[in-house]
Amino acid sequence: MTVQLIDQLSDRTLLKQQAYVNGQWLDGNANTTFAVIDPATEQVIANVANLGAAETRAAIESADLAMRDWRQQAPKTRSDLLERWCQLIVDNTADLAIIMSAEQGKTLAESKGEIAYSASFIKWFAEEGKRVYGDVIPTAQTDRRGIVIKQAIGVVGAITPWNFPSAMITRKVGPALAVGCAVVLKPAAETPLSALALAELADRAGIPAGLFNVITGDDAVAIGGELTSHTLVKKITFTGSTPVGKILMAQCAQTVKRTSMELGGNAPIVIFDDADLDLVIPGVINAKFRNSGQTCISANRLIVQEGIYAEFVKRLNIAVSEFNFGAYSQSDSTHGPLITAKATANIDAKVRQAIADGATVVCGGKASVAAGYYYPATILTHLNDTMAIFKEEIFGPVAAVYSFSTEQQALDMANDTVFGLAAYVYTENMRRSWKFAEALEYGMVGINETAISAEIVPFGGVKESGQGREGSKYGLDDYLEIKYICMGAMDK
Ligand code: ADP
Repeated sequence: MTVQLIDQLSDRTLLKQQAYVNGQWLDGNANTTFAVIDPATEQVIANVANLGAAETRAAIESADLAMRDWRQQAPKTRSDLLERWCQLIVDNTADLAIIMSAEQGKTLAESKGEIAYSASFIKWFAEEGKRVYGDVIPTAQTDRRGIVIKQAIGVVGAITPWNFPSAMITRKVGPALAVGCAVVLKPAAETPLSALALAELADRAGIPAGLFNVITGDDAVAIGGELTSHTLVKKITFTGSTPVGKILMAQCAQTVKRTSMELGGNAPIVIFDDADLDLVIPGVINAKFRNSGQTCISANRLIVQEGIYAEFVKRLNIAVSEFNFGAYSQSDSTHGPLITAKATANIDAKVRQAIADGATVVCGGKASVAAGYYYPATILTHLNDTMAIFKEEIFGPVAAVYSFSTEQQALDMANDTVFGLAAYVYTENMRRSWKFAEALEYGMVGINETAISAEIVPFGGVKESGQGREGSKYGLDDYLEIKYICMGAMDK
């Protein structure tokens, strides 16, 4: 018999099924709920309050009121509260990881890693929020002084995805609260429980009511429509797919809201003949199969030079044969299921299309028929850049391996996409790695490394992968307005 999620927690009050608005736990509109499913078992693990446009509007208005005082506080006051929140997240890692794995499917080890990563954004921005410096600009006139200050942009609407149910929230809410903004968050309907647990801990940390609101609901269009149209919302921050990002940007244009967008990717890993395969294989395993391939910086195209191609495929095949896909509750699971049955069907359709286009299946290639949304680790070879799979984000544990002969050919293939989030290069040649990194049209480049994300460095893409940066000293800019003040008549 499976143990209920709540019975797996040492602190049962971290499992919330109501929305969190203006410091209150709220039921859904007419007490309606939506189900949260464990993707490993396909069982319902929670029924969460289903809110809509009216509750979103009320949350925006209370956020605006709460922000009026919050933005006037000393940065140190805000920082201290964020530090307390961070500590509570760290202290509750075990329970938060169970909640995350239950709704998202990733292994407990991966969930614990994400909780540490999630907390790191709160910690980082608690510090950075104290360093919102301005400028004094020398002017052409002796009677004038030019001054620049930076101020909180206003109420922030945040919309987040299911693949990182905690960290995608804190990398937005951390900087927003640190500089004096309030946030109305809509988490993905697949993974609302991690967001609500964060809200419970924010409440315990003493973050004042109205500053962090979590609107749970399965009508993304209604909630998103309110967030993008309300005049009190000054900024929308979104992580998700490129098509939805484009819709949100178009909606935001009506009230000229600032947007930051972390959208889809089509990351290449370019592996040259001189690469060290002992580095490459673990790097590819991380970049391709972490979270069962469901990350926006997942390696989508393995572009391998001819001389090393056969050996690379052989060693990759050996490495993936050791994977053990299973539920988080099984201690020997190395990889979890995909998020939904739809995700599994989508990946299967991409693999079928690639096979029809001429791909060879080295391993995997067939969806599991047992309970749970599983897809096996799959390696496809004999691919080329005219196939559909070259252009699409796979978002699953399917390694698509291409070959190239010259450096120029590799560069052209790597850049031949509308996306520009992350790219990776493996080579022992210093000149080549430097020049290649410069020529890649991507927001992030890993050289002989694929674990590139951290709170201290800027995460974000170019082209249709988005705009804005999260984390690092740049991650505050998206939540700040620049104000220029001209002091005149100074000679008087
Ligand atoms: P994915 O395909 O990975 O689920 P989406 O871009 O569809 O990515 O979802 C990311 C987030 O955007 C989720 O919170 C989802 O509910 C939300 N979302 C999807 N469609 C819309 C929309 N039209 N307006 C606002 N939010 C949306």
